[in-house]
Amino acid sequence: MDEQLLKAMGLWPLWVPKDQETEVVTLSEPAASHEPSIASVHVASPFGFTESTPDVETPAAKPVISASAKAGLAAALAAARGGSSSLRHAPEKPATHVALPEAQQPPVQAEAPAPVSLVTKPVTPANDNWDDLTREIHQCRACTLCDSRTQAVPGIGDVQAEWMFIGEAPGAEEDRLGEPFVGTAGKLLDNMLAAMQLKRGDNVYIGNVLKCRPPGNRDPQPAEVAACRHFLTRQIALVQPKILVALGRFAANTLLNTDSTLASLRGTVHHVEGIPLIVTYHPAYLLRNLPDKAKAWQDLCLAMKTLQQTKH
Ligand code: SF4
Repeated sequence: MDEQLLKAMGLWPLWVPKDQETEVVTLSEPAASHEPSIASVHVASPFGFTESTPDVETPAAKPVISASAKAGLAAALAAARGGSSSLRHAPEKPATHVALPEAQQPPVQAEAPAPVSLVTKPVTPANDNWDDLTREIHQCRACTLCDSRTQAVPGIGDVQAEWMFIGEAPGAEEDRLGEPFVGTAGKLLDNMLAAMQLKRGDNVYIGNVLKCRPPGNRDPQPAEVAACRHFLTRQIALVQPKILVALGRFAANTLLNTDSTLASLRGTVHHVEGIPLIVTYHPAYLLRNLPDKAKAWQDLCLAMKTLQQTKH
């Protein structure tokens, strides 16, 4: 890890490897009244993060299944369960996450409920495959973003990953390079993955709701989301992740078909077609709001715990 680079990015020392951490930062800001409460007890995480240990009872975690999100994915998964594909006949990979010793288990904000209907077995898409999907995305002209893009950015990573991280839309660097989450926000996401003992492309798939960059990085418009979201639905159906992580309010609201605040969605295990979904901050937001990285770490701990529970 390049200390100078981290300092330049404003990440030092909150988000650094364990062996380089030199101090523990204590957050002083109170939790917003509509967010899960976070205590003022802070300990160094086994990954070198600064963690906040909840000491106030959090809202009961209830599975939330959005009707429209469920309907969209149900159609894709229903099609997926009907046949075979050359993409999915490889044997299921062993889990690659590392189980922590009991004493090092990170604290979480909420107990995950029993999953509603987890997708635990690989199912084979009958009428879809990555080649077709990727070609369709690159050729898509279903919304006006096709006129200003350099190229579409479908997504990247392990197509049989357990973890699927979903952001908002490509930015300038992503539009130029054709890969999601590059640049400083991408580096922070890579650091977040490293803290979870994950890495890009290995048991992780990364994508966005929109596949083309909105001009000036403006917020996506409803018509653009409506035109593009079927691509994300198909990606989820093909990857069949065991857990979804929504990065930022926009991704969370799209996946859950809600307009709730990000704060109200954090700390709860949601479900999209039986797949657990954890909501956390977008890395670009965290770069501008460094103290909230402690909250993001809590979200990632909840995600790791939820995935572990799906395997038992
Ligand atoms: S943003 Fe999505 S719907 Fe719009 S042109 Fe790009 S791929 Fe097509």
